[in-house]
Amino acid sequence: MQVDKTPQINESASEPAGALVAAPVASWNGKPYFPISQVYKERFGTKVVKIPVSVAETCPNREGIRGMQTCIFCDVHGSFAYPDSQGDELRDQILNHRKKVADRFNAARFLVYFQAYTTTFQQLAKLKQGFETALSFDDVVGCVVGTRPDTLSSAVLDFWKEQAQKTYVSIELGVQSFDDDQLIWMRRGHTAAQSIKGIERVAAAGLDTGIHLIFGWPTENSKQIIETARLCNDLPITNVKLHNLHVLKHTPLEPMYAEGSFKPVDLDLYSERVALFLDHLSPRIAVHRLAALSSRWDELIAPDWTRHKMKSYQGIIDRVNARGSYQGRLFT
Ligand code: SF4
Repeated sequence: MQVDKTPQINESASEPAGALVAAPVASWNGKPYFPISQVYKERFGTKVVKIPVSVAETCPNREGIRGMQTCIFCDVHGSFAYPDSQGDELRDQILNHRKKVADRFNAARFLVYFQAYTTTFQQLAKLKQGFETALSFDDVVGCVVGTRPDTLSSAVLDFWKEQAQKTYVSIELGVQSFDDDQLIWMRRGHTAAQSIKGIERVAAAGLDTGIHLIFGWPTENSKQIIETARLCNDLPITNVKLHNLHVLKHTPLEPMYAEGSFKPVDLDLYSERVALFLDHLSPRIAVHRLAALSSRWDELIAPDWTRHKMKSYQGIIDRVNARGSYQGRLFT
């Protein structure tokens, strides 16, 4: 095989140059990426799925901290999968949502996923109580916390560190982009440097660290996607979750879409972005998902392809395979 060992960034999404590595897809159940389900299976010896719950009630953006505003893509439920039960007792949420995910994924072991709003933007005592309730279930093998990278007190890091001595604790930080202009455009209220600092603090506490990224920004290009993958490779993260920027009802993005100032990317272009990202992503970093999946499709305005979960997923996989892409193919 002819290998170009000169690392380059190619503006074309078609065939970036770099050093090719062998595809470990055989060990990924045929997937062209390292799925997080495999990490869970290897760690716990069985299939494990997440139970999304909501314990936080708001976030710094919604409270206007430092003049911040709601992120342009975020709905009133703070990105929660089961808004109908938001506000229910945590124990009831776990019981109800556990049944849903157990039936859907045929699983018997679970991670409680503190998903909605900013989980660390509340009294630590409430988060501690949440962990206690979650871990009181015999079939719950750990906790996953989603939060902002700039809302991490030393006290909360100490608490997670202590918990990690006795159970699995994973922290997922809403980074979304490492481009400061995009972060401003989406009104995140934090910078890329703050995200990196947050990642480093969580990892330095010995915690499993993941990040969420969104693709489909108006100013996005191939070079930026490659740089994002390379930055991920250099950071102490173990997993990444990908979303496509989509328009939900009652979000700041809705009027922008209506007036034509925002147009979501189509499935072909999004799939190209994912393929390019995977090509350059280290095979050591597990991937949660390749695009947004939500149970609230009644709120979806655009793009329509996001509505068809399995069809979209298969479309992305087909495009990745057709390009000959797979995670780590051009990782150097
Ligand atoms: S994405 Fe998170 S930080 Fe942004 S408005 Fe929604 S809940 Fe708040």
